[in-house]
Amino acid sequence: MHESQALEIMEEIYPKLDLTKVAANLHPVDHGTKYLVMCPKCHKKEAFLSKENPAIRCNRTTHCGYHSTLWEYYRHEHSLDAEHMLREFANMANHPLPESF
Ligand SMILES: [Zn+2]
Repeated sequence: MHESQALEIMEEIYPKLDLTKVAANLHPVDHGTKYLVMCPKCHKKEAFLSKENPAIRCNRTTHCGYHSTLWEYYRHEHSLDAEHMLREFANMANHPLPESF
């Protein structure tokens, strides 16, 4: 499986994902269009996870500057390859994967 294919499927999965579950380790707090989360790098609760374009960005731009897609964050956090990532996200979103998986 190519990673580009995985990312394509991810676009379908993202809207169905419960971001509070995906980012549970970061203790998300609902903040309207985004969640306030603990920064994976500096561990201060000053980072945001966007609901529309799932990426994590630390608000301490000069002291930390952490920025990552949710995909990359989760992948590093759980040491998964692209295929396992996709399976895990599909599971969480109750999204059926194509037969070829
Ligand atoms: Zn930070």
